[in-house]
Amino acid sequence: MAAKACSVLITGANRGLGLEMVKQMVESPCPVRQLLACCRDLDGLRSLRDLAKKHPNVITVICLDATDPCSIKESAKQVGSLVGKAGHGGADSRHHDIQNVFNTEGMIHFCFLCLPLCPCATASGKPGMSCSKAAVVSISSTVASMATVKEMYSFFPMASDGLNMLALCATEEFRKDEILFAILHPGWVRTDMGGEGVSLTESVGLLRAMDSLTEKQTGAFLDYEGKVMPW
Ligand code: NDP
Repeated sequence: MAAKACSVLITGANRGLGLEMVKQMVESPCPVRQLLACCRDLDGLRSLRDLAKKHPNVITVICLDATDPCSIKESAKQVGSLVGKAGHGGADSRHHDIQNVFNTEGMIHFCFLCLPLCPCATASGKPGMSCSKAAVVSISSTVASMATVKEMYSFFPMASDGLNMLALCATEEFRKDEILFAILHPGWVRTDMGGEGVSLTESVGLLRAMDSLTEKQTGAFLDYEGKVMPW
């Protein structure tokens, strides 16, 4: 994807996996043309700000707090003007259905506001689906698998489960528009959240996995090596 995509939007771009993906996408030999880096705190983002200064024509930093409905609407509006498409501005009818159900509600709302801003994939002339056309990739986790719930003893997986359900439902709704949806488990990576596992620079599998996605994988839950994960 880093090699072919025109515009990429990354949430949680100030640290952890998000920041690493920004780095890898702009520093690849074939960098993305436009990278919208969303984070909730515009102060104290030294690494992201340094990268944005180094690549001013590629990276735009956008303020997004996924728990704040005003911030969600404002950032979606900003995304619209940056990708050259005005937002539809109306209320998202699905918002009330999902409100207060999962703590990923803000991300789901943001995703629905941004989807109409995606370039029209069907008009691109390219066959099939891919991340270089139009795609929404959720970074989920193996713990979101229903099969592991009995081992978890916690409500923590519900957040990732919400993202997984979004991808599954949206897959069908947006199939005709040729927008690809996928859910990726990044593997265990040493970040503030992850703790143990491989280092961020070793976690290159995520972008490779995105690159290889086609219409065959839309709606799939995969790990960073492309292995199918149990629901
Ligand atoms: P980090 O804790 O390193 O980073 C989390 C990012 O999410 C930060 O940029 C944080 O911003 C942002 N964020 C949190 N809450 C909000 C919010 N309300 N609005 C906007 N941004 C927010 O996590 P990782 O990079 O390790 O994980 C990223 C994703 O990958 C997570 O969904 C995680 O569940 C998943 N994952 C990670 C694994 C790992 O081993 N690391 C394994 C499996 C899944 P801020 O700095 O402002 O807090």
